[in-house]
Amino acid sequence: MIIDCHGHYTTAPEELNEYRRLQVAACECGGSGCIFPAPVISDDQIRESVEGKQLRIQRERGTDLTIFSPRAIGMGHHVGDAKTSEAWSTVCNDLIHRVCQLYPENFAGVCQLPQSPGVAPANCIPELERCVNELGFIGCNLNPDPTGGMWTDPPLFDKWWYPLFEKMVELDVPAMIHVSGSCNPHFHATGAHYINGDTTAFMQFLTSKLFKDFPTLKFIIPHGGGAAPYHWGRYRGLALDMGLPPLKELLLNNVYFDTCVYHQPGIDLLLDVIPAENILFASETVGAVRSIDPETGFYFDDTRRYIDASKIGDDAKAKIFEGNARKVYSRLKV
Ligand SMILES: [Zn+2]
Repeated sequence: MIIDCHGHYTTAPEELNEYRRLQVAACECGGSGCIFPAPVISDDQIRESVEGKQLRIQRERGTDLTIFSPRAIGMGHHVGDAKTSEAWSTVCNDLIHRVCQLYPENFAGVCQLPQSPGVAPANCIPELERCVNELGFIGCNLNPDPTGGMWTDPPLFDKWWYPLFEKMVELDVPAMIHVSGSCNPHFHATGAHYINGDTTAFMQFLTSKLFKDFPTLKFIIPHGGGAAPYHWGRYRGLALDMGLPPLKELLLNNVYFDTCVYHQPGIDLLLDVIPAENILFASETVGAVRSIDPETGFYFDDTRRYIDASKIGDDAKAKIFEGNARKVYSRLKV
């Protein structure tokens, strides 16, 4: 079985976008974004939104199940207040739940959290509990920078985050570190802000005692771990200079990387540097890069091809395609 641990509902029916437009417009006028009724979307509309897209791609590429969450760039935690974020998260998560109910063999749910700049992340606990306990979700996406590129909230090792981490441990769910859109013109969202977010979170984990305090807390750093694998020597050296244990001991019981790296040399480097036990197969389809690579003739995000073509053995492939996802997302039962 091939489990893709990173897919977003980027193809949701237009009614969802219309609802969000109303929210954003209300917030821009100084009002609240939580006053609008949830959009009415039929099961047929949901079927239509994934049949020719995610489901077709699963069939074509020979993957089986996608760990599925709301559109990341759409989370927009920096828009409006916490109540707006709560209403938006509820609507998005309910829709993911409906996709998973319609296609239980193909999708497993991961939730968006109602984070908001300057608001302690403990406010996310009720929605996380609802999604896991009532909707059967198996994880969450955690935005390390709910300000959308300004980084004014405390870093991930701050006690600010601890109540949410305690709840994740209690529920036994991992978080994928995932920023949303960028409102800082210096940072292109998917090209710079995403990769910055991944790399920044990695370094925050490296310099913290987070995993001493939470030995079973689990994070997935997407997009191949940002710059971390490429600069593994730098990070090993920094850890050594700081008198810290080797990275394997310091981080690799808790931190995992996905395979959303869109060329063969990048995947080969990831597989070479990071132990197979810490890599989860992912494509982020339909997502950040949607075109065909003119150098290969295949879609950039067809990441299965790169793993298949790599030199790693069958045992490592089985871990990356399935075993590690089952270990990290321990609530996954399909
Ligand atoms: Zn993503």
